[in-house]
Amino acid sequence: MAEFTMELNDEQKEVRDWLHGFAADVIRPAAAEWDEREETPWPVIQEAAKVGIYSLDFYAQQYFDATGLGIPMAMEELFWGDAGIALSIVGTGLAAVGVLANGTEEQIGTWIPQMYGDANDVKVAAFCSSEPDAGSDVASMRTRAVYDEAKDEWVLNGTKTWATNGGIANVHVVVAVVDADLGSKGHASFIVPPNTPGLSQGQKFKKHGIRASHTAEVVLEDVRIPGSCLLGGKEKLDERLARARERARAGGGERVKNAAMATFEASRPAVGAMAVGTARAAYEVALDYAMTREQFGRPIIDNQGVAFQLADMRTSIDAARLLVWRASWMAVNGRPFTAAEGSMSKLFASETAKKVTGQAIQILGGNGYTREYPVERMHRDAAIYTIFEGTSEIQRLVIARTLSGMPIR
Ligand SMILES: Cc1cc2nc3c(=O)[nH]c(=O)nc-3n(C[C@H](O)[C@H](O)[C@H](O)COP(=O)(O)OP(=O)(O)OC[C@H]3O[C@@H](n4cnc5c(N)ncnc54)[C@H](O)[C@@H]3O)c2cc1C
Repeated sequence: MAEFTMELNDEQKEVRDWLHGFAADVIRPAAAEWDEREETPWPVIQEAAKVGIYSLDFYAQQYFDATGLGIPMAMEELFWGDAGIALSIVGTGLAAVGVLANGTEEQIGTWIPQMYGDANDVKVAAFCSSEPDAGSDVASMRTRAVYDEAKDEWVLNGTKTWATNGGIANVHVVVAVVDADLGSKGHASFIVPPNTPGLSQGQKFKKHGIRASHTAEVVLEDVRIPGSCLLGGKEKLDERLARARERARAGGGERVKNAAMATFEASRPAVGAMAVGTARAAYEVALDYAMTREQFGRPIIDNQGVAFQLADMRTSIDAARLLVWRASWMAVNGRPFTAAEGSMSKLFASETAKKVTGQAIQILGGNGYTREYPVERMHRDAAIYTIFEGTSEIQRLVIARTLSGMPIR
């Protein structure tokens, strides 16, 4: 087990500087344009693929870094560049992790390369879980997967919503109900291969922020996929369902619930790190502005009212990063999340990003309110962090339930 450290090693520093260079030279200059266009920034993704940032290898290297700092460091730098573009770059990784976590070796080898494509022909992937009536309440999911034994095929029907890269992805990972009596324990994940008939894009959403990232509904109408597209395979699913039914009969189920919770605890710090990146970007713009903008014959930072805001902003950002790094280290090293530390990190970092970007607008005054300066975009972008991957209210619910052991509602 790696000791917890707050110091990046030399190799990590090198990667961080490389990512920062890409974020500063390629992502940041493109941010305003793609925000206005509200389209996937394919040329930037391609550029990221050419240098090796948009690849499974890079993602896996950071993911398996024993210090736990690889992913948060990478997310912070890319999202410091721009949240919408960075999400377009890392969105595929989120779907790929779903396959890495649940797929067989063969499924990983077959599908993950198709999620990324190559530098000359980049592809993206989508992870589709949320539905119009199943957001925070995942157990209300309605999309059904029915096994057609005669053909060894699964048939998917339903409507997914809010899918990042939904409809434009080469590979979609779809979560569906296989046993409605088991609630979320009766769900399974499926690969929908490229160009499968029956899968179509529904509404593409016009969003408040992260507008360079494509978000859409995904409609599944009698989508037939081979039996081999069930992640983990049929045997494993049947065993898991049998165990869940057994526990339901015995009035249990805690162990399955705990396993799912541990997965969320491990993935949430990555979203916290994205939020830290956006918050840091806005704070830096605000600090620079406060040092140079003069009113009443002196820089505005000369006023405690402004300087103290910056002090608070920086303090919150550093505190958020520490929570994120701690949770990431715990996840990689298999530490039990006895106080829902993963949820804590996501909660605090996302609320910090929303607050700090708002403070940055205030410090820039009228300029902060215009699209001539980036903090207006950063504030719109930051609002997503308290919503996706579990809203702030859901994080608080998870933390409170973990601390108290009570079924708080
Ligand atoms: C830009 C964007 C990208 C996304 N990308 C993806 C993706 O790639 N794949 C995917 O599957 N999903 C994705 N999502 C969906 C996202 O995870 C959901 O929006 C989120 O889980 C919240 O669900 P909801 O929008 O249905 O809100 P609801 O669950 O309807 O919540 C509405 C409000 O009620 C509150 N609330 C609900 N239940 C409780 C409770 N028990 N206690 C207290 N408060 C409660 C919530 O906190 C929230 O404030 C994305 C969403 C957005 C906006």
